[in-house]
Amino acid sequence: MELVYRSTRNAQETATASMAILKGLANEGGLFVPDTIPAFDKSLEELSKMDYREVAYQVMKLMLTDFTEEELRHCINSAYDSKFDTKEIAPLVHKAGAYYLELFHGATIAFKDMALSILPYLLTTSAKKNDVKNEIVILTATSGDTGKAALAGFADVPGTKIIVFYPKHGVSPIQEKQMVTQKGDNTCVIGITGNFDDAQTGVKKMFSDKELNEYLASKGYQFSSANSINIGRLVPQMVYYVYAYTRLVANGEIKAGDKINVVVPTGNFGNILAAFYAKQMGLPINKFICASNENKVLYDFFRTGTYDRKREFILTTSPSMDILISSNLERLIYRIAGNDAEKNKALMQALNGKGAYTITDDMKKQLADFYGNYASEAETAATIKRVYESDQYIMDTHTAVAASVYDKYVKETGDTTPTVIASTASPYKFTRSVMNAIDSAYDKQSDFELVDELNKLSGVKVPQAIEDIRQAEVRHDIVCDKEDMLAEVKKFLNI
Ligand SMILES: *Cc1c(COP(=O)(O)O)cnc(C)c1O
Repeated sequence: MELVYRSTRNAQETATASMAILKGLANEGGLFVPDTIPAFDKSLEELSKMDYREVAYQVMKLMLTDFTEEELRHCINSAYDSKFDTKEIAPLVHKAGAYYLELFHGATIAFKDMALSILPYLLTTSAKKNDVKNEIVILTATSGDTGKAALAGFADVPGTKIIVFYPKHGVSPIQEKQMVTQKGDNTCVIGITGNFDDAQTGVKKMFSDKELNEYLASKGYQFSSANSINIGRLVPQMVYYVYAYTRLVANGEIKAGDKINVVVPTGNFGNILAAFYAKQMGLPINKFICASNENKVLYDFFRTGTYDRKREFILTTSPSMDILISSNLERLIYRIAGNDAEKNKALMQALNGKGAYTITDDMKKQLADFYGNYASEAETAATIKRVYESDQYIMDTHTAVAASVYDKYVKETGDTTPTVIASTASPYKFTRSVMNAIDSAYDKQSDFELVDELNKLSGVKVPQAIEDIRQAEVRHDIVCDKEDMLAEVKKFLNI
């Protein structure tokens, strides 16, 4: 049976999986959600005998029902290949009392590669299936990692152009260098004088501008999104939770059917929502531990039932989580509102207008599987140092936020359920903050000297993604005000 995707803001607006991927965002700012999440049609034991690609196929075929087996396998095989520096694709590493699911072995060394290495294939396949003749313009806001992963995925893909907006003063030096050195004639990278929320709001506005979209179509273009508002990002992200679980079973750490916890360092709520969807599919997950940095809007939401974005935006050492408007939370809100588009729309309008909304007690009760907490900057740094000293394992700042919050959770609850921590970036991507956490004396050295020091301390090979940017020339130097994003898009498209 074909799975129907529906807008969170209008029950009448439906799409097939491939159309939802093509559109990225529904009309009126809504997000596409599946009407139901199908259950696994293979047992957990069977899944435990499969490799990453096969698990990916088993999960994605249930969600992307209008893709043929041949189409889907082509997308999966093209994405999860030697671009990853390990055959396992997403290795599970047992350190310091938890299982770290390393999601950073792709081309740009952050977890965004897990979905963005396949999204270009899903998107071009969707265009073909739906007879789309327009050139697809990928419009992306990034807090640092999505941008580079999307650029790497879409560079020189025929029939596409990609434009990335990032906060000029809100990303790490390595993140910025990775983006501004991007090759490919179809790529465009723009720094904005604003934060990630400004970038995301600007992009969503262009998506929702009907006249603009008609004008684009008249010029042979249409927008799509590489952000996690695109269902084509979320579905591939469900896969690695299933894969992690099956590795625990395969290694005899748990029995099929046993429960696990997952800890996710969270910003836009995409990664943790994918875990939530995996549970609906039948993955035995006990708690979703939602870890925030000092931008702790989600922690406050889980505690009080009020989502309030009216607060200072804090620049932290985990910049990919510096977000006050977590877009994908809307998909969870819609669900706990009983899949009621009108109720959800009213709450989102309150967020847009008044800057806050409060859910009902009945809705809050349905969040019992979620635990939220946050880590301060000092706690994050202390965690990096502690785990380095105890296990010689060096994690990045985002993963350290998750590990700190997991410590708090265990202290509070005494829960001993085996726990998987989503390790979302290589420490090499945030070298300065990571090395400073271990010893502040490192701060005197240059970024690439620190790369070599990190290599000495960890014994982990310097990733190709870092070697590639040591000498690379800057190819993108546009900076604009947040009000001028549309003008820059038009300039790049020559329209
Ligand atoms: C994007 C990102 C996150 C946050 O993920 P969401 O899906 O936005 O919640 C966490 N860590 C890193 C390294 C990231 O790049």
